[in-house]
Order: sequence, then C-alpha cells, then structure tokens
Amino acid sequence: MIIHADMDAFFASVEIREQPELRGKPVVVAGRPDQRGVVAAASYEARKYGVRSAMPTSNALKLCPELIILPGHMALYSQVSAQIHAIFSRYTPLIEPLSLDEAFLDVSTSVSLFGPTVDIARRIKQEVRDELALVISIGVAPNKFLAKIASDLEKPDGFVVLEAADVQHFLDPLPVSRLWGVGKVTEQRLHDLRIYTVAQLRQLPESQLKHHFGLLGEHLWRLAHGQDKRAVTPDHNAKSISHETTFAEDISDADILRGVLLNLTEQVTTRLRRKSIRGRKVQLKLRFDNFHTITRVRSLSTATDNTKTLWESVLRLFDTENAAGLPPIRLIGMGVGGFDTDSDTNQAPTQLSMFEEAQQETGKLDKLADDINHRFGQKMLSRARGIRRPE
Ligand SMILES: [Mg+2]
Repeated sequence: MIIHADMDAFFASVEIREQPELRGKPVVVAGRPDQRGVVAAASYEARKYGVRSAMPTSNALKLCPELIILPGHMALYSQVSAQIHAIFSRYTPLIEPLSLDEAFLDVSTSVSLFGPTVDIARRIKQEVRDELALVISIGVAPNKFLAKIASDLEKPDGFVVLEAADVQHFLDPLPVSRLWGVGKVTEQRLHDLRIYTVAQLRQLPESQLKHHFGLLGEHLWRLAHGQDKRAVTPDHNAKSISHETTFAEDISDADILRGVLLNLTEQVTTRLRRKSIRGRKVQLKLRFDNFHTITRVRSLSTATDNTKTLWESVLRLFDTENAAGLPPIRLIGMGVGGFDTDSDTNQAPTQLSMFEEAQQETGKLDKLADDINHRFGQKMLSRARGIRRPE
C-alpha cells in the first residue's frame, strides 16, 4: 500500500496558524493585485467564493471583495515543509515529494516495526496535528495513482483508505476527468465517444482505446482498471526535481508568468539544498491553451543548487520563448536535472574562477538562509522578491 499525504491549503494554513485572528476568514497568500500577482494558496473560506490558487489576485478580489491578501513567507513554508518531511522520515526513507507540502510514501519496509500502513498513516496525520498545529489529508491505496485520488477525496482533513478489493467499486462512478493525464481535450474526446465515467471507459477493450488515443489509450486502460506500477522514488534517486502549476484560467501576462516561475524555482532549489543535490540542467515546461506542451532545457557549466543562478537560467529560457510570441499559458513548470552524483562527497579542491567564487558566495547565502530559517523559522527570508531579472 502507498500513502499520499497532502497539506490542506498549505501556505494559507501556515499563515493562519501564525495569526489565529485570521481563522475562519477568506485568506489568500498571493502576489499583489496591482502588481499582477497570482494566488499561491487559498483558505477554504476563500474557496467558497470561487477563489482558487493560480488565479490572478485581481480576479480573486472581484469574487471576494473582503478577501485578505497576505504576501507570503516562502522561507517559513520551507521550514514547515522540512518539519513535515521529518515526520514522514520517522517511518520510511522512501519519500517522494511532489511539492513542499505533498508526498508519496512507501512504508512497506516499516510495517514490521510500526504496524500496518493504515496505522502509520494515522500516526503521521496525528503527529502533524499535534506537533505542527496543521492539518494533512491522507490517502492510502494500493498504488500512487489511487492514493493521490484518495487523499483529495475528503479534503479538508481527509483520511481515505482504499483496499485492493474496493478499487473498481471506488473508481467506476468517478468522472473520467479524475484520471491522471485526462485534461480538457481528452475529456472532450471521451465525451464525444459517450464515455463519461470510469465504468464506461473500463467497458472498452484496450485495442479500441489504443485505436482512438494511441499510447494514451493504453495508459487510460490501465488507470481505468486501477493499475499503476510506478514506484515511490525519493529525491536523491530521482533524475530531476521539478514543480509545476496549472492555472485556473489561461495566463497571457508575461510578468505574472515570471512571478510564478520564480516561486517554482524557490521551491525546487529548497528541495535541492535539503537533499544536498546539485544539478546542471535547467528545464522549463509550458503548456498552451491548446494543450500543446513544450519543454526547453539549458545546460550549465557547473552543477549548482543556487537559487539566483537557476532562476536566471530558467528565466532566459522563458524570455526566449516569450520573445518569439507565446499563446496563453495553461501550465508552467520548472525543473532541475543532470545531478552531480558526487555532490555528497568532498570534491578535490580546484582553482576557482572568479565566477565560481561569486557563485560560492551566493551559495553560502542560500545555505545560511536555509539554516537560519530551519532553526528560527520566523519570517526571515523573502529573498525571492529581491532577485531581479538580469539586465
Ligand atoms: Mg496541498
């Protein structure tokens, strides 16, 4: 069994914990509306107004004029994320983070020590509540795909266990849009075939799905039957670490997109440094309004975990695409790969170029900031907003 654990309205919940007078109010962590900011997280009270993350803040204000807009403290979220991760790691080293507040866990090697997976999942939920005063929703299921659906099912404060025998019963009534990889286009094409639910999809033979959808058809057939063979892959075994955001509505404003990209870069580099991983490949992913997706990769001369270096690099990729003219953007993602496998060991001292020395300095600053926030955890660092676009 696999656990998928996901904090409820993470950034907003951390802010409300710090300022309890905000409890019960519509709160977002977001960029400023007059600076074309985007909602990064919305409290459940704000969601009642239709406010969603990845929505321009100005639109969110129209939906909810009394909305409380907070600037956000990435360093604090990063520190809380480390604390959540520490709770997970009491039970298994097999943790695959999907973002700062969400991860898959494979605890199969720990059940002899701690009891069945479901008991471990309950302990994790309770420890997050007791020690961090925050709420995490959990899904327990035979594989990653099902665990992720399960954790979302009863949010907020969800705890859903899906036994193998119940999988088909659970999946059958779900709309096809709940299947991983089914976006609006595929959903429409399935609807054209009069397929609305997983049950209807499951009745089609694999050959027919392949005929209509090619490789995606095979994938859909497996998911409709509750099959997913992907293993839980910890960061240090992963080939890359990436974050992406799907917008509630397509975004054309390049400044909004740059802001989101910076935020993604901060989250990715936080994870790199936590795992002492450095990478030399930077990747930008863009999905357009027509669902066409492109990825662009840049290689650096040396592997790094430095926020500024990686930000400037991915920004250059973005600006190149933007200069050529971009359709409205549905999804934006940032990733780092090409890991330096020796990054955990001490490398032989080499003559550093001036550039590398300068880079070491900013590297030290990143590390220092991470450490300070790790220890003191208060709203110390919002360096992200200080990083400007290169001239
Ligand atoms: Mg979450």
